[in-house]
Amino acid sequence: MHIRAATYLFVVFLGLIAISCSQEETLPTPTPSPTRPSILLVTLDTTRADSVGFECDAVETPALQALAARGMRFSQGWTTAPMTLPAHTSILTGLYPSEHGIHENSRFLDDQQVLLADRLRDGGYRTAAFISGYPLKRRFGLARGFDHYDDDLGKGNTERLAGPTTERALDYLASNTDGPLFIWVHYYDPHEPYEPPEPFRSRYPSSPYLGEIASMDHELGRLIEAFERRNQGQGSRIVVVGDHGEGLGDHGETLHGNLLYQEVMRVPLILAGTGIPKAHVETAVSTRHIFDTILGWAGLGGGFDLANATPEIVLAEALKPYLQYGWQPQVMAVSGSTKIIQSGETEVYDLQSDPSESVDLSSSVAIDPEITKAINAYSLPALDDTPSSGHLDQEAREQLASLGYIGWEGSPAVRDNAPNPKDMTHIFADLDAGSALFVRKDYEASITTFENVLAEDPENLMVTIRLAVAHSIIGNEKRAMQLFESARQIQPNSIDLKLYLAMHHFRFQRWELAGPLFEDVLDAAPRRLPALEALARIREKEDRLDDAARLIKRTIALKERPEAEWARLGELEMAMGNTPAAIHAFENARDLQAQAFEHTLELGVLYLAAGRPAPAAEALDLVPPDHPGYTMALFKRAQAAVLLGEPDWRERVRFASDRADPNLRRMIEREPLFQGVPRQ
Ligand SMILES: [Zn+2]
Repeated sequence: MHIRAATYLFVVFLGLIAISCSQEETLPTPTPSPTRPSILLVTLDTTRADSVGFECDAVETPALQALAARGMRFSQGWTTAPMTLPAHTSILTGLYPSEHGIHENSRFLDDQQVLLADRLRDGGYRTAAFISGYPLKRRFGLARGFDHYDDDLGKGNTERLAGPTTERALDYLASNTDGPLFIWVHYYDPHEPYEPPEPFRSRYPSSPYLGEIASMDHELGRLIEAFERRNQGQGSRIVVVGDHGEGLGDHGETLHGNLLYQEVMRVPLILAGTGIPKAHVETAVSTRHIFDTILGWAGLGGGFDLANATPEIVLAEALKPYLQYGWQPQVMAVSGSTKIIQSGETEVYDLQSDPSESVDLSSSVAIDPEITKAINAYSLPALDDTPSSGHLDQEAREQLASLGYIGWEGSPAVRDNAPNPKDMTHIFADLDAGSALFVRKDYEASITTFENVLAEDPENLMVTIRLAVAHSIIGNEKRAMQLFESARQIQPNSIDLKLYLAMHHFRFQRWELAGPLFEDVLDAAPRRLPALEALARIREKEDRLDDAARLIKRTIALKERPEAEWARLGELEMAMGNTPAAIHAFENARDLQAQAFEHTLELGVLYLAAGRPAPAAEALDLVPPDHPGYTMALFKRAQAAVLLGEPDWRERVRFASDRADPNLRRMIEREPLFQGVPRQ
């Protein structure tokens, strides 16, 4: 279900500002593409258009400038959303977020979307990607179509510097010397924290953000050089583009994701390579057209070619405040030098005379009805569409939080009095800080911060529920219940309210109250991991093992590394006497856990029960002497020895019997396999 962007209260048409494409009305025609050139796509995370050399004197970016000097530089390149995953998804699908459905980080792209690498690989390209930041990890869905997807950031790391990423890409280029390649390299350096490596740290002591850009540019130079050398005589095409910018305090935003102003939406964009003419293009374009442009280069069709960009109304969105806090949804349109931001009210800027977007012209000029139409046609996700995601595990949540992305997987209240995000900048910092503390489990500190937010934004459902959870976890049940009640008044049918209230009852072991609430949650949002996990525990306590096993299987299907879940399923199947299913589950757990696997005794016992003494012996040999079931393992191992005809089986029986407690010793004495063994 989709709803349309809020409509204007009034539209006055006064024949506004014609689209003024100040120069390059007729672009130089690119010479025909070489047949299937190798293609390099470089995405620069968090890079403002005005923070690279051609717009900023305070930073040195020789690689970007050299590329721009021989290619096409776009000074009005606009991203589709001020956040990493949605912006990249647009580049790789050619679609706006309203069409590909990824409005925030930590969402999962649906399998049906056609991706650029898919098309190129089908068209005979070898494809490889080298990414540097957690929001683009394979699990989120952009790896499809890549023969090689290097998202190895190092254990526990959430980002990789441009240097090591470049090294990986250079190694790949050196070992793939034939045929056309499509390489995507993503650099993450300018994303906060701003900590450039030397010598850039010393060169930019007062602006580490620019230092990160300069450092990234240095690596970009090495990459381009190696890429073009590899393709000599075969043709090369290159796209370099920013995914979004960074607020740096402009319009009250420090980072990115909450607003739609130039500093976060306008990005560097350069095309270069064999046959690409030199030009400076001022036509406003959307970075989503990189998809069609590259397909065209590869001879695989394509529609909108950036090298022949014609004026159009460029759209974009910033929906984090809407999806997370229930504030006004924000949609942007740029046409010529006119920029509109629709967010409950309408702002109008003239980018040519007022590039810093400081004078809102909405009361003095009229808006071209075509722009209004385009904004109104941009479909927004309905708030009650959202809860279908929600299968991020705690590790992913913490990794994203460490980068400043706090996903709220809930469905916020539809608020009549929804505030405009631009009027709420004074609480951006507290919102992010409170959420980060919450995810890091520092509940006391998150309570203080969230109380400040609630004082400013009393109907913020996310904050109300998180506060309730924080109080519940620290044992302050009375305040928790008050807050759950206020959440109910804000949005009685909220799935999140049900989920977290259920967790609250679960925490206090009130299974009869928690169970039905979890069932409700799973009816509406079948992929909610916490509900699946908690309900499985309740079913286990109720001795409904079959139901518990079914729920655990659902969590296994949703998790990237369900090691603990396989082990738990193994225990349940074993308890129900399902030997083959238990073996299967424990084997999967063992494959994932390797050295950390703690169920070798169970597995050994199961193999024996299944008449497989050889793997049983192998498993039982791994049970360590400090394991509480060690003597049982010795007994079972002796059984395996008999069945395998091992010559030392008598010694094994004696060894087990000597260490057994009286109960186990009686079992050993009665064991038919051991009859006739001399005892001391
Ligand atoms: Zn980004």
